[in-house]
Amino acid sequence: MTKRLRILFSGTVQGVGFRPFIYTCAHSHCLNGFVQNRCDGVVAEVEGSGQSIDDFIAHVREHLPPLAELTGIRIQEIIPGGQPSFRILPSRADTATAVHISPDIATCSACLEELFNPQDRRYRYPFINCTNCGPRLTIIRNIPYDRCNTSMAGFELCKDCRKEYEDVHDRRFHAQPNACSTCGPRLCLCDAAGHDLKNPDPLEKAIGLIRQGFILAIKGLGGFHLCVDAASDVAVKRLRDRKLREAKPLAVMTADIETARQIARINHDEEALLCSPSRPIVLLEKRTDRFLSPWIAPGLGHIGIMLPYTPLHHLILAAGFKALVMTSGNRSDDPICIENEEAFTRLRDIAEYFLVHNRDIIVRCDDSIAFVEQGSARITRRSRGYVPRPVTLAQDYPAVLAVGAHMKSAVCIIKGNHAFLSPHIGDMETPQARDFFHESISLMKHITECSPSIVACDLHPGYYSSRIAVGMTGRTVLPVQHHHAHIISCMAENMLDGEVLGLALDGTGYGQDGRIWGGEFLRCSPVAYTRLGHVAYFPLPGGEKAVREPWRTATSLLNKAFGKSWHEYANKLDIVPGHISCNLVDRILDRALNAPLTSSMGRIFDGVSSILGIRQQVHFEGQSAMELEALAYSRTMPVLPYEIKAGQEIILDFSPMIRALAERRLQGDPPPELSTVFHQTLISALIDVARCMRDETGLNRIVLSGGCFQNRLLLTGCREKLAQAGFDVYTNSLVPVNDGGIALGQALCAAEMMKQGLAAADQTQNLPGGIHDKR
Ligand code: ZN
Ligand code: ZN
Ligand code: FE
Repeated sequence: MTKRLRILFSGTVQGVGFRPFIYTCAHSHCLNGFVQNRCDGVVAEVEGSGQSIDDFIAHVREHLPPLAELTGIRIQEIIPGGQPSFRILPSRADTATAVHISPDIATCSACLEELFNPQDRRYRYPFINCTNCGPRLTIIRNIPYDRCNTSMAGFELCKDCRKEYEDVHDRRFHAQPNACSTCGPRLCLCDAAGHDLKNPDPLEKAIGLIRQGFILAIKGLGGFHLCVDAASDVAVKRLRDRKLREAKPLAVMTADIETARQIARINHDEEALLCSPSRPIVLLEKRTDRFLSPWIAPGLGHIGIMLPYTPLHHLILAAGFKALVMTSGNRSDDPICIENEEAFTRLRDIAEYFLVHNRDIIVRCDDSIAFVEQGSARITRRSRGYVPRPVTLAQDYPAVLAVGAHMKSAVCIIKGNHAFLSPHIGDMETPQARDFFHESISLMKHITECSPSIVACDLHPGYYSSRIAVGMTGRTVLPVQHHHAHIISCMAENMLDGEVLGLALDGTGYGQDGRIWGGEFLRCSPVAYTRLGHVAYFPLPGGEKAVREPWRTATSLLNKAFGKSWHEYANKLDIVPGHISCNLVDRILDRALNAPLTSSMGRIFDGVSSILGIRQQVHFEGQSAMELEALAYSRTMPVLPYEIKAGQEIILDFSPMIRALAERRLQGDPPPELSTVFHQTLISALIDVARCMRDETGLNRIVLSGGCFQNRLLLTGCREKLAQAGFDVYTNSLVPVNDGGIALGQALCAAEMMKQGLAAADQTQNLPGGIHDKR
C-alpha cells in the first residue's frame, strides 16, 4: 500500500550535501516526492511502499554525509499526492530558524586528489572545496547559508563551476564557496608595507621566502597566521622577538601524520583527532627537538601540532618543509587579524611579507586546541572547526546569553536544548579584544536568531564582561560565581542534573566573600552551591603582580609553613630577587597591604615551581605548572604530608608539604623527583578531600573542572584514584575546562533558574551569584 510521510530533519543539515544525499537515497529506494531546505531544517516528503519508506529512513540515519549532524527527525503521515518523481525544490524562507551552520571543514580527500592532479582543472588552485569541505562559518555574513549571504557573493560562478553547482549528481552541488582559478578568489603577495608585489606566481615566491627564513603573514580560514620554517632557529627566534613572545609555545603544522610522528609520540586516538575534519592543534608528547628549533616549545614536554586544513596549507607544505610554525597572526594576546588592511597595520612590525587573498573572512576563528586523555579528546580552546556546533543539553530552556569571564573568554547563547558557544575571544585586556567580544555577542545572536532577555555574567563586578552585562537595559542580569560556573559547564555537557560534588581548581575567580578563590570544594546543583571547603587561604604579596612573579607566592607559602624562620629558607633557596628584602615582604604580609587572600590552586603550582628553583617569573599564564608537569616522572612515589581540617569547613593546608619540599630541595633532591612527589601529594590530598565531602553529603558523583585540570598528571591521577575510591567522575571534554567553558556554565545556571522560577524575568538588578548557602 502506498504511504506518504513528511519528514523534518533538523541539526547541521544545510551546506553539508544533505539534499543530494536524500535525493539519491529516495531514488535508490524507488520513492517519489521532494526535498527542500527550510529555515527550520530540511523537509522531505517521500511516497512509496511502507517497507521502502522504512528502509529509506533507516538508510538515512545510518549513512549521513560526513558533515551532517541530525539533532532531530520529525515524522508525520500525510495523504499521498501521487507525484511521478523525486525532486529537489528551491529553498523556502520561513520565520523560525533551527538550522545549524556548519563549522569550517578541512579539505577532503577528493579535493586533495584534484588539487595535486595536473589533469584536473583545479590543479594547484588554493581555494578548491566541495560540499564535504571548505569554509563555512568564517565566510557567513547572513543566514540562510546561501552564496549570496557569504563572502563568495562577489565572485560570479564561471560556466564550469555553475554546471557543478547546479548538478545534483555533482560533488559540488550547491557548494556555496565553489570556485576555480577562472572565477574564484586568488592569492596576492605583498611586502611589509602591504604593497602588492605583482608577482605572477605568489605561491612559489612565498614558499621561497619562507625557505630563506623570512616571516610571512598568511591569510588562512579564520584569520592570519604568522609563518616561519620551524627548522630554522634564526627565523623562530626572530619571530619570537618581533611578536614579543618570549616563551609561550608555538604551534607547528606538519605536512602529514608521518612527519608529525617523527616529532611527537602519537597514539591511535591522537591520530584520529589530528586527522579529524576539525583539524585542531593537538598537544602531543614531544619525542625529539632534532627536526625543529628548540625555541618552539622551550622547557615543555608537549608540543602543539596540526595538519594542513586548507588547500593553501597543503600546497605550501608540499614544497618539502618538515614543519612550519603557524601561530596566530596577532600582537601578543590580541585577537587574530582577519582583514588584509588590518593585518598590514597590526602585523607591520612582525611580518616581512604578506600572502593574502581576496576572499573576505567574516568571522574571526582562531585554531582550536585539544589533547587526548585516556581516549577522549578534550578541547582547551574551542574555535575553528568546532564553532558554531552546539552542545546538546538534557532539556529545553528559556533563551539566555552568557558573557563569560575575563581570560580565554567566549560567550554562549542557549536556545531550546542547544548551547551555542562563540569562537575563542581571548583575554579581554585590550580594546581589540573588547571589540571582538561585542562582535561575538552580535554574531551569536545573529546565527541563533535570538536576542535573550536573560543575561548571565561572572560575579566579579570589575570584569569588563560583567560591566557590559549589567549595563544592558531591559535585561535580567544573573551573576554566577566563577567556580560554580566551572562545575556547571561540566554538568551541562554531561547532562547531569540534581546535586554533585565539585572540585574546581584554577588560578583566579572572584569569591562570594570577596576573596580570590581557586581551590574550591563545592556541593553544586545547576542553580545553587555550597562551599564545603577550600585550599587554606594564603596572602598574595603584591596582588596581581604575584601572577607574573611566582617568587611572591613562594614567600607567602614559606612564611605560612615556617613562620618567622622563612627568611632563612628563602635566602638559601634564592627565591627573593636581589633588590627586595625579606623584611619588606614581611611588612607587606603583616600589614596585609596589597596582599589579598587566596585559595588558588594555580598559585600553589607557581609557589612550588619557585621553591624548586624552576621559575621565579612567568611569561604566560600556566607556564610554571606546565614546566612542573614536564619535569615529573610517571613512577609512583611516597607522598608528602598535608593537613585536612574537617570542621565547619574542609580546609586543605599544604604547609606540611611546603616544609618537606623546601627541606628536600635544600638537601639536594632533584626537581624532577620533587615535582613528581608534589603532583602525587596533590592528588592524594584531593582524594581525601573528596572522601570527606562524600561522608558529609552522601553524594557520590564528582565533577572536576577549572584550568588546573589541563595538567594531565592531575587530571588522570584524580580521575583514576577517584574512580578507584568508588566515585562517579565527570570531566569536561566538549568545552574547555579552563575559562573558555565558563559561559556554558553561566548560561545553564541562569536558564535553570528562570525555568525553576528562582529569578523573576522583570528583575533588572543583581542577584547574588546563583544561590549560595552559608554554612
Ligand atoms: Zn572537498
Ligand atoms: Zn569557476
Ligand atoms: Fe577559572
